[in-house]
Amino acid sequence: MRLKVTVLFLAIFFAACSHKSEPRQFFGENLTILKGARLIDGMGTPARYNVNIILKEDRIKAILDAKEPLPTRTKVFELEGKTIMPTLMSSHVHLGMTNGVQSGSRQINEVNDLRQLYKFSKYGVGTVLSMGTDLDVIYNIRANSQKTDSTLPLVLTAGRGFGVPAGAPPAAMGIDQVYRPKNVSEARKQVKELALKKPNVIKIWVDDFDHSMKKKMDPQIYQAIIQEAHAAKIPVVAHVYYLEDAKLLAQAGVDVFGHSIRDQPVDMELMSLMKLHNIAYIPTLALDEAGYVFAEKPVWMKDEFFRAALDPGVEDWIAKNYKSKATSREDLKMAMKNVMTLFKSGIVVGLGTDSGANLQRIQGFSEHRELQLLVEAGMTPVEAIRVATVNNANILGIAKDYAGIAEGMKANLLILDADPSEDIANTQKIHSVFINGKLIERR
Ligand SMILES: [Zn+2]
Repeated sequence: MRLKVTVLFLAIFFAACSHKSEPRQFFGENLTILKGARLIDGMGTPARYNVNIILKEDRIKAILDAKEPLPTRTKVFELEGKTIMPTLMSSHVHLGMTNGVQSGSRQINEVNDLRQLYKFSKYGVGTVLSMGTDLDVIYNIRANSQKTDSTLPLVLTAGRGFGVPAGAPPAAMGIDQVYRPKNVSEARKQVKELALKKPNVIKIWVDDFDHSMKKKMDPQIYQAIIQEAHAAKIPVVAHVYYLEDAKLLAQAGVDVFGHSIRDQPVDMELMSLMKLHNIAYIPTLALDEAGYVFAEKPVWMKDEFFRAALDPGVEDWIAKNYKSKATSREDLKMAMKNVMTLFKSGIVVGLGTDSGANLQRIQGFSEHRELQLLVEAGMTPVEAIRVATVNNANILGIAKDYAGIAEGMKANLLILDADPSEDIANTQKIHSVFINGKLIERR
């Protein structure tokens, strides 16, 4: 009996060994090899060197060490000296709201949405969540972005968000397309109406925009919105600024804070509530910086990477019409401090920018700038990349297909001429972008 068991074990042992030394073979059509690059997988693991990534159609088929044999008769991209990371995800943008130097809901249409989405693709942003300012045209665009041959970023949407009658978000800024429930029963009815369109999240604006509005959203109204949203299994994202609002929203069961707390340092009470309710945090630091930085004419305003992201006329508009906001610099400082407190305590932080909400929040550029601000706040570059990729995939509920660079995941790849783990600004040195395994035309 004992001998039999030993023989069996030996057989298993040799089978395992021979299996291990047997190189994996990949056959079939439509394989692409990305050869010899450095890999930052988005999961927070340190860079791996000299890997070969095999793509099949829209997915990552395999990640091989340099020693492992490669399939033959495939398309090969020689990428020695380059770095491959996942495309960025932005969990807070606005689509179609700006066009040239015009802004507001009148600018939203399919052509303008698609134009902006292709800009995101070229800038290596492979997923965007549009945060509550969309019209119904977005649902068809979202469906097209989900097709396996799409070269658009994956589009997620909050559809029409929820604001306050004669309050936030300011209709004077051209945001006149949102629901503004007057009472609890109207709020419930409107959430039910919106839920039929299956938005990925529901967006609420609750505060008074720096005391510029007469009133905030009545907590009973946002409690009802959150209840109805959760009954339809849709998470709720809140525009926040004040610590006090954040605590009330946390108690009401909100799922994500879509901006930073900026009026004061976050405290233990908020952190415990966030952990208890599993609330994620999207700091949108680039929004606060855009509130004052252009008046200082930073050197990067001369870079082609920045200038190519501007719509026609916007460079001139910044020179002549840009007004810096007195509180933005202090807001950014507080936001940087708070994001690190929350990040270090284990709260899930994602990347978002509020790009496209108005003319000074530059789509494509802002997403890379946000990474730099997260590093300035205290994250390592590899941590900031995780925030922008795998953390966002978790927050957005798409981790099954988009959790970084791993076998079986979608082939949404940003290939860089220099290593962003040494200098995060190297994410701007874009060599090429793949979305759904397809090389994006970037000229
Ligand atoms: Zn926004």
